[in-house]
Amino acid sequence: MSFTSFDLHPDLLRAVDALGYTLPTPIQKDAIPPALAGRDVLACAMTGSGKTAAFILPILQRLLGRPTGVTRALVLAPTRELAAQIDEHRRALARFTRIGGAAIFGGVSMGPQETAFRRGADVLVATPGRLLDHLSRPYARLDRIETLVLDEADRMLDMGFLPDIRRIMKLLPAQRQNLLFSATMPPAIAALARELLRQPVTLDIERPSAPAVGVSHAAYPVAAEMKLPLLVELLRQPGVRNALVFTRTKHRANRLAEGLVRQGVPADRIHGNRSQAQRTQALAAFKAGTCRVLVATDIAARGIDVTGLSHVVNFDVPPAAEDYIHRVGRTARAEAVGDAMTLVSPAEEGDLRSIERAVGTRIPRVTLPGFDYAARPAERLEIPLADRLAAMRAERRRGQDRRWRH
Ligand code: ADP
Ligand code: MG
Repeated sequence: MSFTSFDLHPDLLRAVDALGYTLPTPIQKDAIPPALAGRDVLACAMTGSGKTAAFILPILQRLLGRPTGVTRALVLAPTRELAAQIDEHRRALARFTRIGGAAIFGGVSMGPQETAFRRGADVLVATPGRLLDHLSRPYARLDRIETLVLDEADRMLDMGFLPDIRRIMKLLPAQRQNLLFSATMPPAIAALARELLRQPVTLDIERPSAPAVGVSHAAYPVAAEMKLPLLVELLRQPGVRNALVFTRTKHRANRLAEGLVRQGVPADRIHGNRSQAQRTQALAAFKAGTCRVLVATDIAARGIDVTGLSHVVNFDVPPAAEDYIHRVGRTARAEAVGDAMTLVSPAEEGDLRSIERAVGTRIPRVTLPGFDYAARPAERLEIPLADRLAAMRAERRRGQDRRWRH
């Protein structure tokens, strides 16, 4: 089955072709026809399965031949990065049409986004918080919306966006098409779907609890303090073009990126404490290949798509199986082959075993030949808390001594 068997305009097929897509992915095959027919769709499909085009193509098709300059489609997404990425995808698919759009997210100034509202961007892609900021102003109206998409619905709920989503829904016409996409289908999503969707076509594309196919998984047992040297060695292995590296905390993301740079590995980082400009710049450098390693926390990297990503590294074992699946879903996207490496300290073995139970496979334990596992590290990633407190106490004492002497 090819894209030409959908009822899509030649200008859209040309864009699909220009993106190099030859065959629709399973979710595209199943979601595009009912979405084109105006039905509501509830789709559960994992990260990397091609959901964006599955909702953008029907939206564009249904907008073709209608007057432009009226906002008729709204896509809600959980993070700034995702909103920007979906908007980029929309632009690529609409490039041979006159359909416009805009991304609405926080961390940047309101002005250009206000212009997009006033101009009537045909397709808006927005994060809920910033969208509500605009909706309190008279220029922002959503009363002509014909299609609403909730993308990454499970993560939006995890992030506490449900009240915002409800407030936004009240401002939309009651008569509209609803498309809900989620990587997992916990009870809260099923409840939202019942509230929101009308006789939806329900699609469950892949088992939600299985990691991406084509990914080879490996766990590297290593002492906690030897993780940085091991990572540096792993990044030197042939075939490692680039890597998205996850850490447990923002603090560790910072320390790890700094540690890598000191070891001569070009690396940057994205997490919630960085400004939008910093995050955009880091992601752009990574996508352009000027920075081979991007260190991230889960929330910031959610759904981020990097074409040709060769490796995902769990620098820390993720706390939940679901995070593991989402993280490794970044590689082996759309049938490319990638690798997922997890560095596991003795203290993390238990967490890794629960992940193995949840995904139903054993992750092979491997050692890197030639790496000196018994070495003592040249630098520590984190100074233990007790040492940090002792240093702070010593600093305070020195301050007091100085005061007394004066
Ligand atoms: P999801 O939203 O399900 O995580 P995306 O829509 O971000 O997935 O798509 C993942 C990657 O697959 C993107 O790089 C996208 O360009 C690519 N892709 C999407 N559809 C196809 C297709 N039919 N053929 C090849 N690549 C595709
Ligand atoms: Mg997506």
